Amino acid sequence: EKTLHIVGGGMAGSEAAWQAANLGIKVVLHEMRPEVGTFAHQTGNFGEMVCSNSFRSDDDEQNAVGLLHWEMRAANGLVMSAADRYKLPAGGALAVDRDAFADHITATLKAHPNVSVDYGEITDLPSEGMWIFATGPLTSPALGEAIAKETGTDRLAFFDAIAPIVYADSINMNIAWMQSRYDKGETEEEQKAYLNCPMTKDHYEAFIDALLAADKTEFHEGETAGYFDGCLPIEVMAERGRETLRHGPMKPIGLTNAHKPEEKAYAVVQLRRDNALGTLYNIVGFQTKMKYSAQTEVFKMIPGLENASFARLGGIHRNTFLNSPTLLDDQMRLKSRPNIRFAGQVTGVEGYVESAAMGLLAGRLAAAELSGVEMGPPPRTTAMGALIHHITGGAEAKTFQPMNVNFGLFPPLDGIRGGRKGRKERYKGYTDRAKEDYNQWLIGQS
Ligand code: FAD
Repeated sequence: EKTLHIVGGGMAGSEAAWQAANLGIKVVLHEMRPEVGTFAHQTGNFGEMVCSNSFRSDDDEQNAVGLLHWEMRAANGLVMSAADRYKLPAGGALAVDRDAFADHITATLKAHPNVSVDYGEITDLPSEGMWIFATGPLTSPALGEAIAKETGTDRLAFFDAIAPIVYADSINMNIAWMQSRYDKGETEEEQKAYLNCPMTKDHYEAFIDALLAADKTEFHEGETAGYFDGCLPIEVMAERGRETLRHGPMKPIGLTNAHKPEEKAYAVVQLRRDNALGTLYNIVGFQTKMKYSAQTEVFKMIPGLENASFARLGGIHRNTFLNSPTLLDDQMRLKSRPNIRFAGQVTGVEGYVESAAMGLLAGRLAAAELSGVEMGPPPRTTAMGALIHHITGGAEAKTFQPMNVNFGLFPPLDGIRGGRKGRKERYKGYTDRAKEDYNQWLIGQS
C-alpha cells in the first residue's frame, strides 16, 4: 500500500498532498486545527494565510518570487490555481481573497479521491511509513520537542534572527575591503569570507541616532518576545548605550582598512559571505525589528552600502525551523530518519510562496520514492532548485537563517546571457534560463 502521511495542512502540506495524490499516491493529511490552535491561525481551513493576503510579485520575468509562481503553475500547483481563481486587484502583486482561497483549497483536497483527512495533533516522529512534516513556523510545542530530541536542540530554532542580506555586486568596493578579523582563516577562501565597511566617529554617531529614531515593529500578541542575549536586535543594543555596538558587532579591532591603512576606523560594519556562490553577504549581528522602509534608509548610511540593494531585510519572529543544511539530504529527507521528510517554512525557507514551493517538491519527491521512480530536485538554475539547493547545501550551516527566494541564489549567467548587462536584462536572462531548465525537469518526470 502506497500511503503518504502529511502533517500540517498549511501552504506546504496542502500543496504536497495535492501533488502526491495526483501522482496516484494515497495521502493521509493530518491537521491539528481546529482542535489545537496557534496564536496566528483563526480557522480550521487548509491553506490559511495568517497575515498578509499577498503572494508578492507576479512578474515572472523580473522577479524571483514571480518566477516561483510560474514554476508552480507549470507543475499544476493547487496553491497557485486557487490564488489565480480568487485574485484581487493589486497592481503587480498577486493578492487574494483569503477566505475564498482557503475554502477552495480545503474543499478541493477533501474531494480528492486519493486524500483523506485525519484531524488531530501529531506529537512524535513515527519510525514506520513515509511521512512529510510541514508543520510550519508555529509547529506545536510537543512536536517541536520530539523533533529537537531527534536533531539535537542546537539544530532546531524557535526564533529566527535575520540579518539583512546584500547583493555583493551592489557593495562599493572602493570603500569596503575584504579581510577577516585578525586575518583569521587558513585558506584564501576563508579570508575572503568577510567584507568590512569603515565608519568615522561622525558616521557612527549619526548611525546610532538613526537607529534610535527608526520605526520598529512589535511582536504579535501571543508571540513571546523571548529573544536571547546572543541575538538582540541592533536597535535594542543601541538603546543599552551609545557605545554598545562599537564594543559588539561593530568593533573595529583586528581590521586594517586596505584603502587607507594609516587611518584607524572608529567602528566597522562587517558583512559575511552568505552563500557558496559569493553573490550574497549578510550584515553580521544586524538582526533587527526596524520596519523595512526604515532599514533601507538606515543601512544605506553605512559607508560602502550607499547603493546597496537588499536580497532580504532583517527581522526577528517566532519561527520553528531546522538547520536544514546539516540535517536534510537533497531529497528533503531527515538524514538520520529517511522515512521522514520536512517541507515548508520549517525547512528554513520563508514566506507563503516559498513554503508552498517546497511542499510541491516534497510531495513529488515522496510520490516518486513510493512509486520506485528515480527523481532529483530541479536544477539550481530554477527558482525551486536554487531554493532547495540553498537550504540543503549551499547555505552556511553555522549561521543558517530562513531565506526568501532571490536571484542571488542562482548561479551567475554565462556567455551570451551573462556578461556586463543591465539588471533588467540579467533578470530576464535568469528567468529565461530557469523556464527552459524547469520544463526539461518536468518532462523528465512524466
Ligand atoms: P503553515 O501554513 O503555518 O502550516 C502548518 C500547519 O501545520 C498548520 O495548519 C498547523 O496547524 C499545522 N500543525 C502544526 N503542528 C502540528 C502538529 N503537531 N500536528 C498536526 N498539525 C500541526 N508569510 C508571508 O508570506 N506573508 C506574511 O505576511 C506572513 N506573515 C506571518 C505572520 C506570522 C505571525 C507568522 C507566524 C508567519 C507569517 N508568515 C508570512 C510566514 C507564513 O506563516 C509561512 O510562510 C507559511 O504559512 C508557511 O507555510 P507552512 O505550510 O510551512 O506552515
